[in-house]
Amino acid sequence: HAAKQTGEPVRRWTPALDERAGEFVRLGAEIRAALDHDQFRVVYQPIVELPSGRVAAVEALVRWEHPVRGVVSPAAFIPVAERNGLIVELGEWILRTACRQLAEWRATLGDRAPERVSVNVSARQLARPQFAATVAAALADSGLPASRLAVEVTETAVFEGGQAVTALHELRALGVRIALDDFGTGHSSLGLLQTVPVDILKVDKSFVDNVTQAGRHTVIAEALFQVSTGLGLSAVAEGVETAEQADALHRLGYRYLQGYYYGRPVAEPDFALSAAIAAGSEPVRA
Ligand code: C2E
Ligand code: MG
Ligand code: MG
Ligand code: MG
Repeated sequence: HAAKQTGEPVRRWTPALDERAGEFVRLGAEIRAALDHDQFRVVYQPIVELPSGRVAAVEALVRWEHPVRGVVSPAAFIPVAERNGLIVELGEWILRTACRQLAEWRATLGDRAPERVSVNVSARQLARPQFAATVAAALADSGLPASRLAVEVTETAVFEGGQAVTALHELRALGVRIALDDFGTGHSSLGLLQTVPVDILKVDKSFVDNVTQAGRHTVIAEALFQVSTGLGLSAVAEGVETAEQADALHRLGYRYLQGYYYGRPVAEPDFALSAAIAAGSEPVRA
């Protein structure tokens, strides 16, 4: 078809593109088979509350245990599942698995279990008018109260408004929390906070990486914390890998941290208290 007026070049159908299309179809078929053969697993990464070091919540992250390739990262197959629509079935399975798992931990561990599980939801799932009903059914079948579930969506999934934002209102009405994932890296970040129902901002790892060096990342990490508290939201800092980063974030006011420093995503996380951060670093409040 004709080139768009923006001047985008028309992409020619080259053998390389053809191979990629073939790879897309092959991988799609493999995902279908993997669903049928129960090759997906859900792992859980702690979200730690400071200063106690308690595991307040966990994020559910999917893994593909491929019989030949080993553990495949979601970055390699979620985009394919999003494009061919299989994310709807896979996503519902992840949601149901995560709800059942937290209900089981709550039943066996009581208050030593995390309070909440956070589940990633893709744009394609959110765009379906049935999405809130699917969530309600997963909660009812697992016995997990709605307040123990959060859905993580990206700014990109909701910035166009429409059915995705309707779905978030419906989820909120059920009592499910809404987290904006990778916050600060997508479209129209701050504007979204005026129109989209949100409870939790997950501040992207890119702002955490250099938070120990005074510089622009630190300024942004601090500003995002101030925005979230000012709006009555909780802020979670993602991708915390060192004690120094944890300490710097705590000084900026952050109370919820997630990252390899506290634990990698695993099938059965350790819910014992994580090492508290350096003494004497009381959070600075505005
Ligand atoms: P995300 O939702 O932002 O998840 C955080 C990713 O960062 C996870 O990668 C996690 O393992 C990784 N991570 C956590 N702490 C650290 C750290 O300290 N350092 C570093 N370098 N990485 C850290 P993962 O599990 O590979 O997932 C990648 C992305 O794939 C996720 O990003 C999410 O967008 C998507 N994804 C994962 N599971 C699901 C799922 O069940 N459904 C959907 N729709 N998407 C998923
Ligand atoms: Mg996430
Ligand atoms: Mg994230
Ligand atoms: Mg991320």
